[in-house]
Amino acid sequence: MDSKPSPPLSESVRAHSPPRFHLLAKPSGSTCNLDCTYCFFLSKEALYPDDASRMPLDTLEAYIRQLLESHRTPTVTVAWQGGEPTLMGLPFFRRSVELVNRYRRPDQQVEYTFQTNGVLLDNAWCAFLKEHGFLVGLSVDGPQELHDTYRVNKGGQGTFAQVMRGWEHLRKHEVDFNVLCTVNAANQHHGRKVYRFFRDRLQAKWMQFIPIVERATRETLPIANLGWAPREGAPRLLYTQTGSLVTERSVGGDQYGRFLVDVYEEWIRRDVGTIHVQLFDVTLHALFGEHLLCIHAPTCGYGPALEHNGDLYSCDHFVEPDYLLGNIHDTHMLEMVASQRQRRFGDDKRDTLTRQCRACDVRMLCNGGCPKDRFVPSRDGEPRHNYLCEGLYRFFDHVRPTMIVMANLVQRGRPASEVRDYVAADDAKRGRSDPCPCGSGEKFKRCHGA
Ligand code: SF4
Ligand code: SF4
Repeated sequence: MDSKPSPPLSESVRAHSPPRFHLLAKPSGSTCNLDCTYCFFLSKEALYPDDASRMPLDTLEAYIRQLLESHRTPTVTVAWQGGEPTLMGLPFFRRSVELVNRYRRPDQQVEYTFQTNGVLLDNAWCAFLKEHGFLVGLSVDGPQELHDTYRVNKGGQGTFAQVMRGWEHLRKHEVDFNVLCTVNAANQHHGRKVYRFFRDRLQAKWMQFIPIVERATRETLPIANLGWAPREGAPRLLYTQTGSLVTERSVGGDQYGRFLVDVYEEWIRRDVGTIHVQLFDVTLHALFGEHLLCIHAPTCGYGPALEHNGDLYSCDHFVEPDYLLGNIHDTHMLEMVASQRQRRFGDDKRDTLTRQCRACDVRMLCNGGCPKDRFVPSRDGEPRHNYLCEGLYRFFDHVRPTMIVMANLVQRGRPASEVRDYVAADDAKRGRSDPCPCGSGEKFKRCHGA
């Protein structure tokens, strides 16, 4: 079989393109060995009903080659995601490393990231991940009773025990890992418990909390509430970012903020400087005008998603026909990333903000959140306001004073962790029976002062 081409990169495209972007590649498309009920990516199989959803080697080569050609920064990230990338098998990733070594310029450093549900991780996988310095994102939603609510296998059984076996292999081989935890209807009231589990039991040093917001219309909601895996006799939905209702698994808008504040109040008293929570790092950097995460940046559009067959979409959250930019076998990926159409996609994030966002006093930290979550009316009735706004405001407003203390410390060349002295002095003025500053309504001594 002839291999498909990788089109050349013209100098004029390169000259007018961003120096870097963060592409998420989905080598097994949306196919997965689990059936997590909130995972609407499972429905994306409907986009490619007639193929096996496995990235061919010529597409792998075009991807690696174009990614390395595109970057003008010294460091390039090769980011693998799913579906479940381990379904591709180790030889595929060994080949990807060989291709990186073939196409990498001598001055280019390559970092690898790998998002997985963990159930197939074994000694062979972890030895490979360690050897090549992969940073692994492990999906865990908290202790067993919370994790197993939605993260289930094809038989509907909880996957906690299997994921913990994968985690043990990661630990044994000393692979760097980051816990990726969704915040959903089951764990949304347990921020501290979830955080402590990751810190104390999993020994995680990096964590990300991702809100589950699954949109639906009045017509699709009953089917969406059943989950996104194929079901015999039931109609199959393709998830798209439409509808102003949410499934019963989705996190509450305000509750998302309460969850984050609950984690923050624990973190700031004990773990600043040793545990990294992505959103906390993002917020501190935003005070210096640096935007580490598209969701809270003024504009976006530099995080395209690559499907197994070379189709490139505007964003991992918009893998749907209206956001297909083209195919890397026909058009160089940098041309698509730098296209007017993709710029419009990214600039719309800023240009479609509601009046409420534009006037908001935490806008410089929040920037209206992700456009995929903008589907409710604002306070004054304007459409396409962020569903999570109440929680986002709660979080950014709550953390702002201590974030400013940390920013001032950093500016003076001091470690941000010295903020703990500031918090301890504040706690000392507080009566043990006063309400906890996290806003839970509990006494301080029974809450974050315990
Ligand atoms: S749509 Fe959302 S997730 Fe996608 S790039 Fe923009 S902010 Fe990021
Ligand atoms: S907190 Fe709400 S109003 Fe403020 S910028 Fe964010 S989404 Fe907009």
